[in-house]
Amino acid sequence: MEKLIYLDNAATTALKPEVFEAMKPYFLENYSNPNSIYTFAQQSKKAVDEARETIAALIGAKPNEIYFTAGGSESDNWAIKGCAEAFASKGKHMITTKIEHHAVLHTCEYLEKKGVEVTYLDVDEDGRISLEQLEQAIRPDTFLISIMFANNEIGTIEPVREIGAIAKKHGVLFHTDAVQAFGHVPVQVDELNIDMLSASAHKFHGPKGVGFFYMRNSVKLGAYLHGGAQERSKRAGTTNVPGIVGMAKAAQLAVDGMEENSKKIAAVRDHLIERVLAEVPFSRLNGHREQRLPNNANFCFRFIEGESLLIMLDQKGICASSGSACTSGSLDPSHVLLAIGLPHEIAHGSLRLTLSEETTMEDVDTVADSLKAIVERLRSMSPLYEDFVKNQ
Ligand SMILES: *Cc1c(COP(=O)(O)O)cnc(C)c1O
Repeated sequence: MEKLIYLDNAATTALKPEVFEAMKPYFLENYSNPNSIYTFAQQSKKAVDEARETIAALIGAKPNEIYFTAGGSESDNWAIKGCAEAFASKGKHMITTKIEHHAVLHTCEYLEKKGVEVTYLDVDEDGRISLEQLEQAIRPDTFLISIMFANNEIGTIEPVREIGAIAKKHGVLFHTDAVQAFGHVPVQVDELNIDMLSASAHKFHGPKGVGFFYMRNSVKLGAYLHGGAQERSKRAGTTNVPGIVGMAKAAQLAVDGMEENSKKIAAVRDHLIERVLAEVPFSRLNGHREQRLPNNANFCFRFIEGESLLIMLDQKGICASSGSACTSGSLDPSHVLLAIGLPHEIAHGSLRLTLSEETTMEDVDTVADSLKAIVERLRSMSPLYEDFVKNQ
């Protein structure tokens, strides 16, 4: 088989060998529970403390504002359910968008059944919210604004600083799902007026099943998991020492290499975009052209089923996705593509290609060549396309 071309880095990333090496001693040599009293446990306690300091420093937070979780979904659940519970007396209204990850959307839908009112903001054709609409949506009983930093399907980056400023002006808390952003674009919580933030290690070349939740010290949410006194008694459960150590190592590497890598990745990505738009007829790029994650390309191909495209790319050793990993398998078109105004039949023919620093120009040339051939072949079998050509 040909070399595998992995272009699904928004779904998960490869663990870096340095990250694995950093984790290894905490599996094999020092497997201690950092909460234990004996000397053997001091090394793992120290490693977890240092990981907390590392991550805090990378986002401009204090170490005691970082809570380790099992990933992005848990952090999102904590922020939203935690606020709904803590501020139940202040109000029962929150604001989010139509393009959030399901970890946010399904949590909001769950809370709606319990009486919380949720405003789902529209986005424009590039996937950006309107700041005016956001400000107009704020009510005296609004307890939370939860808006993602960058979208996992189309890569659009939201105007986070301005959102934070509006939230602050109205005294409303601001949570951002930064799972796609952290480690890929600069994230500083004070500069951007962020009160709570979710991140996940496996989206920046760290291990799966570990993430962090940033909660500003002035925000006082209750415990999310009840049990032991871990994570300042807010998130019980024996500490995932290797996972946390690996996440901190991956975070440091990602932020240290960000400037150089994002330029390199964006150049390869832009070459891919140019070739696809120029060489595949009736193709379109989804998402904002500039305010966009450096590694994201998302296309629509008219008269094509996204699923067939994925299967044929897979036969050539190319890993891609239509929409998000969580929704593929279902035939519903992506809620994000519908929110940016694409009609159902076009939203069905979407393809998300997300690169890493390992992706080469040759890789994306292979992908562009394959796409051209596959789209042509699929269209040659499509009665819709035949009708379209006849009527032209
Ligand atoms: C992947 C992802 C999540 C979920 O993170 P997990 O660590 O897999 O639970 C949440 N939000 C966004 C935007 C994501 O891309």
